[in-house]
Amino acid sequence: TVAHAQDKELVVATDTAFVPFEFKQDGKYVGFDVELWDALAKDMGVKYRLQPMDFNGIIPGLQTKNIDVALAGITIKDERKKVIDFSDPYYESGIAILTSVKNKDSIKTAKDLAGKDVAAKTGTATVDFLKKEVPDAKVKLFPNIDNAFLDLATGRVDAVVHDTPNVQYYANTGGKGKVVVTGSVQSGDFYGIAFPKGSDLIEKVNASLKKLKENGEYDKLYTKWFGQAV
Ligand code: GLN
Repeated sequence: TVAHAQDKELVVATDTAFVPFEFKQDGKYVGFDVELWDALAKDMGVKYRLQPMDFNGIIPGLQTKNIDVALAGITIKDERKKVIDFSDPYYESGIAILTSVKNKDSIKTAKDLAGKDVAAKTGTATVDFLKKEVPDAKVKLFPNIDNAFLDLATGRVDAVVHDTPNVQYYANTGGKGKVVVTGSVQSGDFYGIAFPKGSDLIEKVNASLKKLKENGEYDKLYTKWFGQAV
């Protein structure tokens, strides 16, 4: 029998821990990316299997075509466009500083990070940002940002620099009362759904994304995970 293209189960990669886009809750992956993809897949009528992995492995996995699609709050960047393709942008983001309540008045800007122990996540846009803008920060890399949050809680690092919606959500939930977002260091980044170069899914995904934005499904998910305040 001949397998039809539409019967193929797509391998859809996501990050292991990136609140509130993808994270494990009661043994199940939930979050904005996870639910946005599910809505897109339903609209397109495709089957898929979710494959959570360290962010670091996602772009290489797309390049080798071991992954068909990835949603992991992936920032659309020109360097990345040379090796993978992106959907239309689906979320506006940025980079911010998270620090302990006791450091909230002293660590607020990129300049304040000079000479400090700063945690970031392996393979992310923040690593490039820090190299360029704060070359004298002592950067400690973590494949999983939850371990960076732990280092901040125990004072092993002075700050965590990571995507704004992620550190903001953490400061409002798990880190509440202990950590705060003190400053935005970059804005106007956009997340895109990522594909191997030349994937024939891109057009279909863009069409479905447009439809979900028009029919209110996208807004419903946005409000569910980010609240009313934008
Ligand atoms: N937006 C960041 C990047 O693309 C990382 C997001 C994440 O940690 N999942 O580099």
